[in-house]
Amino acid sequence: MRDTADSADVVVVGGGPAGLATAAEAARGGLKVVVCERNHAIGEPVRTSGGSFVRPLRRLGVPESCWHPVHRIRVIGPTTDVVKTYRRAVGCVLDVRGTYQWLAAQAVEAGATIRLKAPVEGPLRAGAGGRRVTGVRVRDPFRGAHDLHARIVVDASGHTGFLARDAGMRPRNERSAVGIELELHAPGYDADEAIFWLGDDVAPGGYGWAFPCGNGRVRLGVGVVRPESDAEPRVLLDGLLDAFRAVAGTTSPAGALELHSGLMPVIPPRATQLVGDGLLVVGDAAGQGSTLLGEGIRYAISAGRLAGRALVDAGGDYSAHGLAAYPRGWRRSTGRDLAISYAVNKRIVDYGDTDWDRAIRRLDRLTPKQAARVFASEFSARWALGVLITDPSLLASLARAVSRRAAGRA
Ligand SMILES: Cc1cc2nc3c(=O)[nH]c(=O)nc-3n(C[C@H](O)[C@H](O)[C@H](O)COP(=O)(O)OP(=O)(O)OC[C@H]3O[C@@H](n4cnc5c(N)ncnc54)[C@H](O)[C@@H]3O)c2cc1C
Repeated sequence: MRDTADSADVVVVGGGPAGLATAAEAARGGLKVVVCERNHAIGEPVRTSGGSFVRPLRRLGVPESCWHPVHRIRVIGPTTDVVKTYRRAVGCVLDVRGTYQWLAAQAVEAGATIRLKAPVEGPLRAGAGGRRVTGVRVRDPFRGAHDLHARIVVDASGHTGFLARDAGMRPRNERSAVGIELELHAPGYDADEAIFWLGDDVAPGGYGWAFPCGNGRVRLGVGVVRPESDAEPRVLLDGLLDAFRAVAGTTSPAGALELHSGLMPVIPPRATQLVGDGLLVVGDAAGQGSTLLGEGIRYAISAGRLAGRALVDAGGDYSAHGLAAYPRGWRRSTGRDLAISYAVNKRIVDYGDTDWDRAIRRLDRLTPKQAARVFASEFSARWALGVLITDPSLLASLARAVSRRAAGRA
């Protein structure tokens, strides 16, 4: 390929965690990588709450300065209230901007180029029937519309996954989680406790949350799954503010400094073909987040790294065969946990107050460690064995959810 400013080995569409992690890994392996991000800055605007888990983040090498640890996870149901306490913090809340910019710095240090305010309009195509993607058409304020040629394009565009959808590699977002949150200045709130609210009053077909993120700030939000729930998150958030004030203490001030909102696809984790003709898909664009709690950032980073490594190891053979290590590695590392999360999501989305109270009582019977695995969507055989001893009915219920989904698919 001609080596000009307007060609690269890899063009990554989207400078979120998936795209940046892919770019860093591919550039580290010597590939010429260009990331196109439509916004003016990496990590702007914030569209996500940043709830995550310390151990997997450490494993990914994300620096501790990027997150605020919490030692208590509380779940408040219609008539139930459970707190799990951890001597060593298990959960944490990411500084979303800081984390994404750290990922971007890694990509730059590896040699990738990031183009900001560079929205991709669509693919360039060639070959029989125009099936092969050969680059993208970008429109930026500096050069206007122009073509950027690539040996392979990575769709890391987030929930739209528009290039992959256009290529028939992924389904439409028939289901999606829509969320809205306020980042509050609320110094009276206990910065060591994350809260989930469940039940019809707070969030029918979803949940509410309060995630402390340090410096007296708390992200208070609510999300619901469409189409099952037609509740309006904006309206639910007003109600949640009252519940939050009751928990935080009515006398302490709490005011909004930022508003975040966004959408996460809720598609079966194996519904996307990860590698196509000149196109690879990663992150939310491929439905690679956990749909249990709507957690996707660390999954996007690890999928991006797998994808980037596969691009390097392919040695220029960007066919499905040459890149097979990526889908294989992804399925092996995360496929089962995310399939279980999806099955559970389908089941609990219709829960009413009685179901939630029952589920929360079950959660109460689990040890803090077992509960942490549920929050983090980690369903190992060892975990299952432990739960079998603590609460066999929970395991039976999980198995029913998974087999029901499998039967629905057959
Ligand atoms: C309300 C809400 C709350 C959430 N809470 C959490 C949470 O607590 N913890 C967690 O881990 N996850 C959470 N998630 C999920 C998480 O945000 C995603 O899973 C994660 O951001 C996926 O990363 P990504 O890189 O695949 O996509 P994104 O982060 O969406 O990044 C995609 C990037 O592509 C860019 N882009 C899109 N189209 C174009 C185009 N045409 N041209 C150029 N650039 C383009 C976008 O501007 C964006 O920067 C939440 C999501 C929502 C909506």
